[in-house]
Amino acid sequence: MLSSCSKEVKLVGETEFKLGTVCTISLPEGTDELIYKGAFNVLDLVEKEISRTSETSAISILNVNKSNSFNKETYKLLQDSYKMSEQSNGIFDPSIGLAVSLWDIGGINPRIPSTKELSEIDTNYKDVKFDDKNRVVSIPLNMEIDLGADGKGYSADLIREYLVSKNVNKAIINLGGNILLIGSKSDNVDWVIGLQDPNKEIGNSYILLSLSDTSVVTSGTYERFFIKDGIKYHHILSPSTLYPADSDIISSSIISKNSTLCDMLSTTCFIMGSKKALEFMKKYPQARAVFLLKDGSVVFSDNFDKDYQITNSDYSIIN
Ligand code: ADP
Ligand code: MG
Repeated sequence: MLSSCSKEVKLVGETEFKLGTVCTISLPEGTDELIYKGAFNVLDLVEKEISRTSETSAISILNVNKSNSFNKETYKLLQDSYKMSEQSNGIFDPSIGLAVSLWDIGGINPRIPSTKELSEIDTNYKDVKFDDKNRVVSIPLNMEIDLGADGKGYSADLIREYLVSKNVNKAIINLGGNILLIGSKSDNVDWVIGLQDPNKEIGNSYILLSLSDTSVVTSGTYERFFIKDGIKYHHILSPSTLYPADSDIISSSIISKNSTLCDMLSTTCFIMGSKKALEFMKKYPQARAVFLLKDGSVVFSDNFDKDYQITNSDYSIIN
C-alpha cells in the first residue's frame, strides 16, 4: 500500500517579521537559501512601496504630498482597490487612512477619536484621481490612503509569481494567517488548512479545509482591537460611520486563487455582515466564502463544496 503512494515532499519554513506581521515561507527541503531570500525580498520591495510606517514609501509620499507616481504593480493594486470600492459601493475604501491613524488600533496609542476629528477628514474613494498615462495618483488635502486591507494578499500573489519564476512548484506562504498554497501536499492529496477559532487560543481552528493551489485569507476582530469601558473597538472600520464596523461576523474567510481578491473580499464581507456578504459573493464565482458568526453559526457561500470539517462542536452549520 505505502509503496504505491506518491512520495511526500517535506517543506521547510523560514520566518521573518515583515509587513507588521509574522511571515513564514515554506519551501521543499533542499531549496536554495537564495530563493527564500528572494521571496522575503519581495516583501521588502512591497513595504518600500505601500508601508505607512515607513516615511519614505511611495504611499507615505502620496499621503504627505497628496500626489505621487507609482510603479506598475502598485499602480495596478491602487486601481484594483478602487474597483473593489466601486463594486462594494464604498464599503471597501482605502481612502480611510486618516481614520485608521486616528483610531491607531493595534498601534501604540489606540483611542476613540472625537466626532470633530472624524468630521474633518475625507474618506471617499471617488475623490482619488488616477492619471494612467503617468501612473500618478492624487488625493485631496484631508485624505490618506491605507492599503492594509489588501497589502498582504497582494504580497502573497507577488511571492507566488517570484517562486513560480524560479520553478518552485510546491510552497506554503503564510503572511500573518493569510495563506497562499502553491501546488498540493502530494499528487492528488490536498493540504489540510485550519482556520483560527476566534473564541479560542491562537493555534486552535474551528474548521479544517482541504485545499491545493489556492489562497485563503481571513479578516477578523480577534487580533487587533482595544477595550474601553467594556466596549471592544476593532480595526475594520465602516466608511460610513468611521467607527469599527458593527457586524454579525467574527471571522470572514475567502478562498480563491487570487490572494489580493481574497484579502479585499474578506474585509469587505466582514463589514457587510453575513446576509449582504452572501449576496455580494455571487458576483465572484471564482471565490468562495465561509463566515463564523457571533452566535456560533457557520455560513458558506452558495458555491462552497463540502470538503471541510468543523472542529468546534459548539458551532452549527447554517447552510
Ligand atoms: P488584517 O490586516 O488584520 O489581515 P484586513 O485585511 O481585514 O485585516 O484589513 C484591515 C486593515 O484595513 C485595517 O487595519 C486598516 O488598515 C484597513 N481598513 C480598515 N477599514 C477599511 C475599509 N473599510 N476599507 C479598506 N481598508 C480598511
Ligand atoms: Mg483584507
